[in-house]
Amino acid sequence: MRYISTRGEAPALGFEDVLLTGLATDGGLYVPESLPHFDLEEIRSWRGLSYSELAFNVMYPFVDDAIPADDFRKMLDETYSVFAHKAVAPLVQLDTNEWVMELFRGPTLAFKDFALQLLGRLLDYVLEKRKQHVVIMGATSGDTGSAAIEGCRRCEHVDIFILHPYQRVSEVQRRQMTTVQGENIHNIAVRGNFDDCQRMVKESFGNQSFLGGKTQLAAVNSINWARIMAQIVYYFHASLALGGPDRSMAFSVPTGNFGDIFAGYLAKKMGLPISQLVIATNRNDILHRFMSGNKYEQHQLEHTLSPSMDIMVSSNFERLLFDLHGRDGLAVKTLLENAAKGPVSIEDYRWKHARKLFDSDAVDDKATCDTIREIYEQNEYLLDPHTAIGVRAARNCRRDQVVPMITLGTAHPAKFPDAVAESGVSVEPPLPAHMADLFEREERYTVLDNNIDGVQAFIAKHWKNA
Ligand SMILES: *Cc1c(COP(=O)(O)O)cnc(C)c1O
Repeated sequence: MRYISTRGEAPALGFEDVLLTGLATDGGLYVPESLPHFDLEEIRSWRGLSYSELAFNVMYPFVDDAIPADDFRKMLDETYSVFAHKAVAPLVQLDTNEWVMELFRGPTLAFKDFALQLLGRLLDYVLEKRKQHVVIMGATSGDTGSAAIEGCRRCEHVDIFILHPYQRVSEVQRRQMTTVQGENIHNIAVRGNFDDCQRMVKESFGNQSFLGGKTQLAAVNSINWARIMAQIVYYFHASLALGGPDRSMAFSVPTGNFGDIFAGYLAKKMGLPISQLVIATNRNDILHRFMSGNKYEQHQLEHTLSPSMDIMVSSNFERLLFDLHGRDGLAVKTLLENAAKGPVSIEDYRWKHARKLFDSDAVDDKATCDTIREIYEQNEYLLDPHTAIGVRAARNCRRDQVVPMITLGTAHPAKFPDAVAESGVSVEPPLPAHMADLFEREERYTVLDNNIDGVQAFIAKHWKNA
């Protein structure tokens, strides 16, 4: 499989290189040159497979000659055996034909574990083969950092440095990062805010001379293709559990950077019968505004009860724009260069096509809380605020009661106890048993000033072979 850039000017790459590359050299994102397609008979033959067996069938066409089949199978077995539920992505019923797919049974209690547990293993495999080493540098306001650290904790050829804003992440989120022990794991608390952290990471990727040419930086944010690839699998898994592919399904997806929902769109293109895909946003609703009025326009960032969806622009949306423009990279490049300067629209027939592919809704904090309370009163089931947004959007946008509606449960409610409390539900969501001692575990992190030279010097000094 070869991968091409959404801006049409960077060289095509194979799977291994795409894994190790962040942005393409032309500023675009990598996408597969063509998608595998499965017919109904083939999908039907996957009924009853375990999660990791299914994952192999869905993902191997994207990997093919880069990794021998047996090695890839083994990697997937290991990846999905760390989840604290035998079904890996179990379904919970909310109403007659309405479901939540629980994607939070992994080590850090959010769906990002599905991709980052695999990404860590893929990176280490490829680096071992190439006798190379990388430094992962990332900024986090919460979920991505902990999932990336968990994913890389056993990697021999990877050092990971995660920057978080000092005293500005929740205690659960901080502890999920800082209590992971490992020589290759480095938590840096920056005396600044999330934007300061992100800016330092961006600048470091732009000029890596502080590493002295002895290693290179790698990215684990959702622009990495392997993350999208891993997220396609659970759409197939849910469908097969509920009678697919002989019935069509609807999915509602809490969305920030458009990664998870883009994976659903790909599942559909690969042959899975999906009749509705709902983009569920919080008040940071650039995607909902685009879907409603064909205007893509950046607004001020709003802080909400669903912080993992607090974004101003949606990086993976570029991958959809590429398809909407008939895979014309130069058209995408022009559009996004203009979008950086002000609001943009696309041609009406392209926008109408997007509207056929997706429905959308924006859910504010009050409606989020109402939904957490409503579902608790109806079912004694606690939603986290992100999942609540998905459920609310699913109910608002639903078109056909006969089609099962599945909301992606993106995080465990124990990760966001404040939102649960604010909703008026009086029970406190307990941490799952495998994390119950989180508050007793020893923490390890270094506090540094908001200064890029100091942060870079720290990294240069502390990676494995420094
Ligand atoms: C990252 C995240 C999201 C948003 O996912 P995208 O792929 O960026 O759209 C939603 N919910 C939770 C809990 C997350 O951690």
